[in-house]
Amino acid sequence: MRIGVFVCQCGTNIAGTVDTAAVARKALTFPDVVYATSYMYTCSEPGQKEIQNAIKEHNLQGVVVAACSPRMHEPTFRRAVEKAGLNRYMFEMANIREHVSWISSDREANTLKAADLVRMAVAKLALNQPLFSSKVPINKRVMVLGGGVAGIQAALDCSEGGLEVVLVEKNSSIGGKMAQLDKTFPTVDCSSCVLGPKMVDVSQRENIKLYAMSEVDSISGYVGNFTVQVRKKATYVNWDLCTGCGICTEKCPSKQVPDPFNQYLAPTRAINIPFPQAIPKKATINKDYCRQFTKGKCGVCQKICPVGAIDYTMQDEIVTEQVGAIIVATGFDLFDYSAYGEYGGGRYPDVISGLQYERILSASGPFGGHIKRPSDGKEPKNIVFVACVGSRDPSVDRPYCSGVCCMYIAKQAILTRDHIPDSNCYVFYMDIRAPGKNYDEFVRRAQEEYGVQYVRGRVGKIYPKGDRLVVQGADTLLGVQVEVEADLVVLATGIESASGAQELAEKLRISYDQYGFYLESHPKLRPVETNTAGVYLAGVCQGPKDIPSSVAQGSAAAAKVQALFSRDTIETDPQVALVNERACIACGKCIEVCPFGAIQWKELRGGGRKAEVLPSVCQGCGLCNATCPPKAIQLQHTTDSQILAEVNILCA
Ligand SMILES: Cc1cc2nc3c(=O)[nH]c(=O)nc-3n(C[C@H](O)[C@H](O)[C@H](O)COP(=O)(O)OP(=O)(O)OC[C@H]3O[C@@H](n4cnc5c(N)ncnc54)[C@H](O)[C@@H]3O)c2cc1C
Ligand code: SF4
Ligand code: SF4
Repeated sequence: MRIGVFVCQCGTNIAGTVDTAAVARKALTFPDVVYATSYMYTCSEPGQKEIQNAIKEHNLQGVVVAACSPRMHEPTFRRAVEKAGLNRYMFEMANIREHVSWISSDREANTLKAADLVRMAVAKLALNQPLFSSKVPINKRVMVLGGGVAGIQAALDCSEGGLEVVLVEKNSSIGGKMAQLDKTFPTVDCSSCVLGPKMVDVSQRENIKLYAMSEVDSISGYVGNFTVQVRKKATYVNWDLCTGCGICTEKCPSKQVPDPFNQYLAPTRAINIPFPQAIPKKATINKDYCRQFTKGKCGVCQKICPVGAIDYTMQDEIVTEQVGAIIVATGFDLFDYSAYGEYGGGRYPDVISGLQYERILSASGPFGGHIKRPSDGKEPKNIVFVACVGSRDPSVDRPYCSGVCCMYIAKQAILTRDHIPDSNCYVFYMDIRAPGKNYDEFVRRAQEEYGVQYVRGRVGKIYPKGDRLVVQGADTLLGVQVEVEADLVVLATGIESASGAQELAEKLRISYDQYGFYLESHPKLRPVETNTAGVYLAGVCQGPKDIPSSVAQGSAAAAKVQALFSRDTIETDPQVALVNERACIACGKCIEVCPFGAIQWKELRGGGRKAEVLPSVCQGCGLCNATCPPKAIQLQHTTDSQILAEVNILCA
């Protein structure tokens, strides 16, 4: 084979600590290498032209580029060699930036290591075979997981573009956290007035199929052709009949049922609709508190329901949906404030979370929008807000910033002063993070126009004194200890990944970080894509963010899906497993081990059977290859002999 080697300098990124010209000279001594050079920026247009010219001039049959991580530029170079007439798989990359120049400043050692990596790539390339993709049709339906503001935006944008959308929401209504908020920063407009019309729009679109009280059971398939099993949880109310009149809730005798929508500040009934603007507005029975289930008798709602919608025998139902792309918008949960025992959250009723305060402020909340203390219903006069509770604190394993707490504290303090003009609001903070448009001005308004008193420092302890709470902290600007007697303390609890996020990631085969937030394909250039083709991200499931950014990501993910669906077919990746039938002993181990169900039995005409790979389902993970006892399955483009050729070079 005639191989050309191109060693990139990447400006000084590589050339700063690697002698790239020496690596190119060394490459000329490797078997099969007929041309080698070093270039300033190989990925630039002139750099790619240089490769294409060399392919023609030197009649090259394969190309190695020694440069950066293949994650970014492998597709660029594959396209470049293809344009010059080579098969795109007659190309290899050696990573001499992330694996060499960026991790050591020892120029001599780096140059030797870079040359070794190039030599390994050359040895592998010498065994490469041209590979060809096939085309499969795309199913132009999209599934959106999670009906918070990010998922709603994604669903509406896809629907607007004419796509069929399947929206899956685990709660009985869409809306997510935004539906629980009173007003929103920095405009202080009513949350449900902004979100409500979008929720209604979802319910009215003919091309959006909504599954509420539903979750994904399993996912199989690949980009363009996913099969998703959705579990519709039993609600014990036939939603086709339920009109949302609410009579059942009024008459239900089980009245002490915890209400997550109101953040447990007031009870609900065993049959309920979570909030007046719910979409769908349908009743659901909480089996754990329904007397029909717990005591075997009641039946009040069944007797009272004017349309006969109650069905105590209802079971979960599994439905199968075929879609070509999936947008994940499953949002977040809040840090459990009881982890800070010294603050008394969970022990003292008047120490509450920011989301509980949103419910107190909301007109549809437990106190009708009047600010009252949970303990005795009195109007509080001194309110203390504590920032960063479960954010930027490695001691509780939450070193990251939650991104919205500084802002929602300012909003809640402004609203408090609006509701109770003679109140005093104090904010204990580490430093203010208000980087959005008009955000800093908003915090200033809280301080200057509304007289909210900001104390820079952490709170050490909160303890009861009579019917009040003493908040002890430090003012680090003045260098003094501070004590405030408060009637109500609001802890700005941080954002954490949604419960079940990791299990869902495994079903979707996407990655997540150490805190359970889903990983984007590239933090700057591919912020809503994942490493699994056809699966996109939107909203806080990817990391803490506010509503504008969640909405922007919802639209961005929808745009990505529209771009994917603008074609009728999709090219499959030919780097998949292939069975050598003559070597296969039909033990079935590969079928057992394949996580994607990509291997099946092929019945032979003369009797007997052999394993067969479905190329469009195979993800090229290599598990079967490693498991197969007679090595009858090989991964094309990464065969055992290619790996051994590389290892041999390394050990030589
Ligand atoms: C107290 C507080 C006040 C805030 N105030 C403001 C503000 O004033 N302005 C602002 O810009 N931002 C504010 N925010 C931030 C705002 O709430 C978020 O930016 C926004 O809710 C993110 O939307 P989302 O759709 O990504 O997530 P979510 O709102 O969490 O929605 C996610 C949805 O996915 C569903 N879901 C979860 N898992 C699954 C699953 N496995 N399958 C199906 N469905 C699933 C959930 O039930 C939920 O409906 C505030 C946050 C808090 C905590
Ligand atoms: S279940 Fe029956 S009573 Fe309850 S809201 Fe629905 S229609 Fe009304
Ligand atoms: S490489 Fe093998 S185990 Fe992995 S997906 Fe393909 S067939 Fe399945």
